[in-house]
Amino acid sequence: MPNATDEIPAMISLIETLMAKGIAYKAEDGSVYYRVAEFPGYGKLSKKKLDGNIAGVRVNQDEYEKEEGADFVLWKAAKENEPSWDSPWGKGRPGWHIECSAMCMRHLGETVDIHAGGEDLVFPHHENEIAQSEAATGKPFARYWLHARHLLVNGEKMSKSKGNFFTLRDLLQKGYDPMAIRYVLMSVHYRQQLNFTLESLKEAREVIEKLDNCYFQCLSRIRIAGQKNGGELNLGASAAEIGKALGDDLNIAKALAIFQKTVSEINVHLAHLSETGLSACVEFFERMDRIFGFDISSVREIPSDVMRTLSEYVEARKVKDFATSDQLRKAIAEKGWQVKDGRPGEPSTVKKNRRVWDGKK
Ligand SMILES: [Zn+2]
Repeated sequence: MPNATDEIPAMISLIETLMAKGIAYKAEDGSVYYRVAEFPGYGKLSKKKLDGNIAGVRVNQDEYEKEEGADFVLWKAAKENEPSWDSPWGKGRPGWHIECSAMCMRHLGETVDIHAGGEDLVFPHHENEIAQSEAATGKPFARYWLHARHLLVNGEKMSKSKGNFFTLRDLLQKGYDPMAIRYVLMSVHYRQQLNFTLESLKEAREVIEKLDNCYFQCLSRIRIAGQKNGGELNLGASAAEIGKALGDDLNIAKALAIFQKTVSEINVHLAHLSETGLSACVEFFERMDRIFGFDISSVREIPSDVMRTLSEYVEARKVKDFATSDQLRKAIAEKGWQVKDGRPGEPSTVKKNRRVWDGKK
């Protein structure tokens, strides 16, 4: 996370390179501009032509002494009471676009694999980053551009005046599960518009709950004797399918659907999985956490005292001593775990309570 103010020398040196190549020029007030007409590829990202659309920019920016309306500022001459830095062109500050080109190339190299940003940044910001970087290096600036569409809230653009403006902190303070928020934000392909609603957060919470239940079913059953014999599921095939979906322009909605389908399959076959099969399920969840980050598998082991209390609980229920079983259930709850009673013929299992946001992290 570089700070722009620490990177001024790299910005100045990039501007100097562009000046040496005749692509940048200094105006009378001490500002330096990029001569757009010198870069033939200008407009290739946003598909804008130099004349037509960019004329609008010219009208808004004619306070600058530029040779051409579309030329954009690389270095702005200092105004009074504004922060400024020394440069070969006098005191001033860098233009917005040059910051990104300079920092990106200094820390990541002249060509980056993936450059991301919101849809509003395609023009002029990213177009100008390309112009600056490619004119300086003669190499492609980014191999892939990934522009995310802005979300809607309840079908409308999010804005403070409409009262539909949520920050992450607001939602967490209202008690929403951070992972449910993550799920909703990931549920739609990045180039499609997501309509964010509180209702969708509730639904997402149920999905997370379902994933969580399945994980702890697997983890508990490994520890409960009597499930040594059984089969395994082909989870490798599911993981490969998920990888393939993500490799296809980050089709996360499809990847999530496969993940959920696999979890449903695990649920169906739970009682017939061998210990190895159950361990493979636990590993599958760990692998999915590395992809989706839902934090399902962070608890890797059920503490022995919880397991011990669980078997006492099961024994108490067998002899219909419900006063004792209730006590034991409470004792497990105090340790932050929940007892899940199995259907007839199915074992009782335990599940760790999901972490609640404590206002810190
Ligand atoms: Zn940028």
